[in-house]
Amino acid sequence: MFNKRVLIKNLLNLEPDNQKVSVMGWVRTFRNDQFIALNDGSTNKNLQVVLELGKFDNELLKRITTSAALKVDGVVIPSPGKGQKLEIKATSVEILGDSDPEKYPLQPKKHSLEFLREIAHLRFRTNTFGSVFRVRHALAFAIHEFFNDRGFLYMHTPIISASDAEGAGELFHVTTLPLNNVPKNEDGSVNFNEDFFQRSTNLTVSGQLEAELGATAFGNVYTFGPTFRAENSNTARHLAEFWMIEPEMAFYDLEDNMDLAEDFIKYIIKYAVDHNREDLEFLTQRLEEEEKQLPLEKRNEMKLLGKLEFVLQHQFERITYTEAIDILTESNYNKKKKFQFPITGWGMDLQSEHERYLVEKHFKKPVIIRNYPKEIKAFYMRQNDDGKTVAAMDILVPGIGEIVGGSQREERLDKLEQRMKEMNIPEKDLWWYLDIRRYGTVPHAGFGLGFERIVQFVTGMGNIRDVIAFPRTPGNAEF
Ligand code: ATP
Ligand code: MN
Repeated sequence: MFNKRVLIKNLLNLEPDNQKVSVMGWVRTFRNDQFIALNDGSTNKNLQVVLELGKFDNELLKRITTSAALKVDGVVIPSPGKGQKLEIKATSVEILGDSDPEKYPLQPKKHSLEFLREIAHLRFRTNTFGSVFRVRHALAFAIHEFFNDRGFLYMHTPIISASDAEGAGELFHVTTLPLNNVPKNEDGSVNFNEDFFQRSTNLTVSGQLEAELGATAFGNVYTFGPTFRAENSNTARHLAEFWMIEPEMAFYDLEDNMDLAEDFIKYIIKYAVDHNREDLEFLTQRLEEEEKQLPLEKRNEMKLLGKLEFVLQHQFERITYTEAIDILTESNYNKKKKFQFPITGWGMDLQSEHERYLVEKHFKKPVIIRNYPKEIKAFYMRQNDDGKTVAAMDILVPGIGEIVGGSQREERLDKLEQRMKEMNIPEKDLWWYLDIRRYGTVPHAGFGLGFERIVQFVTGMGNIRDVIAFPRTPGNAEF
């Protein structure tokens, strides 16, 4: 019975011709005991359901309240009212689930995003989150389509890991040891021999090292899964649990890697622009409204959809780290000491404010920075001939900063071993990673795209907590 329902999104495209339909959804509003605005999550557009006066009993009408779940049978007719082509003339209305209007927290009025985070279990029922999560879905689908079309193999790398790939962030430990009675070695350290895996383990911070193993057999692979970082950074672009896409390609150098990353980002943005126009139009309007509260200079120069079209039409700027430092050094911002972290010259790590200056003030478009000093990058990145830099690349976008970090990987065993020694990375834990360089090593490269960051970029949502269903951040794991 339930599976005969028509999605409101599809129904709204019909030519009204007295078709008999069955729709189900949640009440957004109910006016004059006659007009129900019904929403089923397939689109922000509500279906107007019309109840003939006097035809439905009063007890039933009282139960048609905001967010009550309904099954409506009726016929599709042209709508005399403005704003919609068609409406449903109800023949029967069944209440599937009541919703107490006195207690329901989501009244039909504007709520702040902060408030909605506290009721994240209900916030999908708002237009903003409806649009955000449909766009998120579309981007995820496009990611698989992009790689599948190009012959990449989708690889599932472990969630529980014994290695900290990057030395990137703080780790979440995974253990079954009793917290109130931790077994100790004689020297006072934790005796992990008694732990579940008989060694120290953590939630993965990246699937890259394992993806490299796949790439050296399948050629091109990608991962798309959750990663975890216990970094105590309470920013609008960091989560403790986020999703990452990590393609890894054999027979690729840094240039190939940058080309793929740029194509990939444009492909998934285009997919959303083509398939989710209605949602993106809504989000564009939403952002415009939100920005009205900001002083002029803080508002985006481009509207959301305009920005996405712009990104699709222009090549990303490509510069070296050295050029980036020169631009920053020469900038008025630096001369007027407007950076919180001063530009101290070649070798410094770029802070988010520096990255944002480059993309938002200087180039005004996405930028790929390559060839970073080896001291500020991970051990596995391929050493350049200058002895100072590695073949790394970061992609920065306006409003967010870094969305991609990648590199050509060091495929030469001696160079890799030497770098691991210099950086105190124990070889015994990574024997399998080194084996790949022993047996048929090849030039290869890859990158990691933070999924929530690209969702932020495409939806224009300022806070990363608003583009993942149930955000995990320091002090918060509700739901
Ligand atoms: P950042 O400097 O922004 O902390 P990172 O250098 O630590 O990033 P990488 O280790 O290179 O990031 O991870 C690859 C990508 O994963 C980043 O480009 C970013 O898009 C995303 N990312 C990293 N950390 C987080 C996080 N805590 N929450 C959400 N996305 C993240
Ligand atoms: Mn980080």
